[in-house]
Amino acid sequence: MSKTAQKIVIIGAGIGGLAAAARLAHQGFDVEVLEKGSGPGGRCGRLQVDGFTFDTGPTLLLMPAVLEETFASVGKKLSDYLTLERCDPNYRMHFRDGSDLTFSTELSQMGRELERIEPGSFGRFLEFLALGEDQYRTSLDHFVGRNFESRMEMFTPANLKHALRIKAHKTMYAQMSRFFKDDRLRAALTFQTMYLGISPYESPAVYGLLPYAELAVGIWFPRGGMLAVPRALERVATELGATFRYREEVDQVVLEGGKATGVRLRGGAVVKADLVLCNADLPWAYKNLIDPAASELKNVEKLKYTSSAFMMYLGVNKPYPQLLHHNIVFGGDYPGSFRDIFKHKRVPADPSFYVNAPAHTDPSLAPPGKDCLYVLVPVPDRTAGLDWKVEGPALREKILDRLGELGCPNLRADLEVERSFTPDDYALELNLERGAAFGLSHNFFQVGPFRPKNQDPNISNLFFVGASTQPGTGLPMVMLSAKLVAERIGALGASRRTPAGAATRSDPVAA
Ligand SMILES: Cc1cc2nc3c(=O)[nH]c(=O)nc-3n(C[C@H](O)[C@H](O)[C@H](O)COP(=O)(O)OP(=O)(O)OC[C@H]3O[C@@H](n4cnc5c(N)ncnc54)[C@H](O)[C@@H]3O)c2cc1C
Repeated sequence: MSKTAQKIVIIGAGIGGLAAAARLAHQGFDVEVLEKGSGPGGRCGRLQVDGFTFDTGPTLLLMPAVLEETFASVGKKLSDYLTLERCDPNYRMHFRDGSDLTFSTELSQMGRELERIEPGSFGRFLEFLALGEDQYRTSLDHFVGRNFESRMEMFTPANLKHALRIKAHKTMYAQMSRFFKDDRLRAALTFQTMYLGISPYESPAVYGLLPYAELAVGIWFPRGGMLAVPRALERVATELGATFRYREEVDQVVLEGGKATGVRLRGGAVVKADLVLCNADLPWAYKNLIDPAASELKNVEKLKYTSSAFMMYLGVNKPYPQLLHHNIVFGGDYPGSFRDIFKHKRVPADPSFYVNAPAHTDPSLAPPGKDCLYVLVPVPDRTAGLDWKVEGPALREKILDRLGELGCPNLRADLEVERSFTPDDYALELNLERGAAFGLSHNFFQVGPFRPKNQDPNISNLFFVGASTQPGTGLPMVMLSAKLVAERIGALGASRRTPAGAATRSDPVAA
């Protein structure tokens, strides 16, 4: 007698849950996704107010090859679902001394810009690119693109050789300082660790792969805004047979005899499953969804977290050509700002921040003749205990003042729409532990096999996907996380549908 396909319930339709749903449905599993929000995307979400369209989270699509591979792995072609455009130039950076610097993937333009700031720096930039290329390839091939079974696998002689070569043992800032003397260039080529919510003074130099990826592969943007990515993944997963239920919040993983047998929804209904895949933030899920008597996250209080963010979404009544699609504004004290965020747990007095103006690439995102701006200010996570009803308005004034100095003097008067999002919102709306916007941190002891695994060590049919499990945060890493967990689940040899709908063999998760 043939068995029916094994049912997988996925908790959450973030990029990780969506990419895993597509892969697992393609493998023949019966996949149902339960998401507490009203649509797909999670942190890669959307806010629409009075004709202004804001991407709420990610704005930089890096390493598009990972997205292409996600589609190809399920027999689909990315270009049938998404149109990606390269942002050129990449971004403009504004420094406290009034100078600015524009980065581009175009080498001669980069050369002119770098030499203007530090004569002789272009040659060293080319050396940096060579190292960045090595860091990028080696990381993908040996460290982030695979499932580690044990910590010892990290310490093979070959891996140690790779780790030393790509400077996994140095900090990003120290390594970059070997290439460049001018503080502005050092900042311009290290702040990218904040895409992972970590300080360049703490993060391994291997994250030189981030500025490398931006400068050598480019910053990409999907037509229609970043939400086009989760929507495309949802479409693919649906075509492959996955089903989605929104506004369904899971409040417990149901366990029987040491196995997950399904999930209980807020309201009490139980959805049965042979296997549960959790895309909700891993440390949050261990605290809130999983009975600690059955399994716990080890050393949970010692884990390090990424920064949070204070977000402003501003709809303005005229175009702002003085801004590019991507803009970085540095405060006066670069090292001090990281100490403030990560050590002293306070908002820097003169904060650095990022401004996004996506309608400059896709005008459909703002009403005709208007503009939409998004401001991301890195701030401490919720353990800082800040009162955002007080901090938020004060920070808003600083940001608007600083933008006023940078050619937007009438911004306050031009505002038609204004919304904000704080660390408290990240915790309460997106269920992120400590409101840490990027999840668990990426210091040396929280990457590779040291990062929480994508399979629970005690509950063998409970799996994880997303930013706080292996390999890490950011859209490309989270898509890789979906690849890794789908491989792990696939390797169990579970029963699946054949393409014709018939079932194949065995009981995998009973192991
Ligand atoms: C402000 C900001 C800017 C960023 N910028 C970039 C960028 O430019 N480029 C980049 O690559 N990355 C960026 N990132 C990082 C990137 O957004 C994340 O790494 C990635 O989106 C995380 O995806 P995920 O699937 O792990 O988690 P999430 O997106 O958090 O998805 C988890 C989902 O689970 C749902 N959920 C949680 N609990 C439950 C429950 N109990 N029941 C049901 N559903 C539940 C949540 O609602 C959510 O939809 C940024 C992040 C932020 C916050």
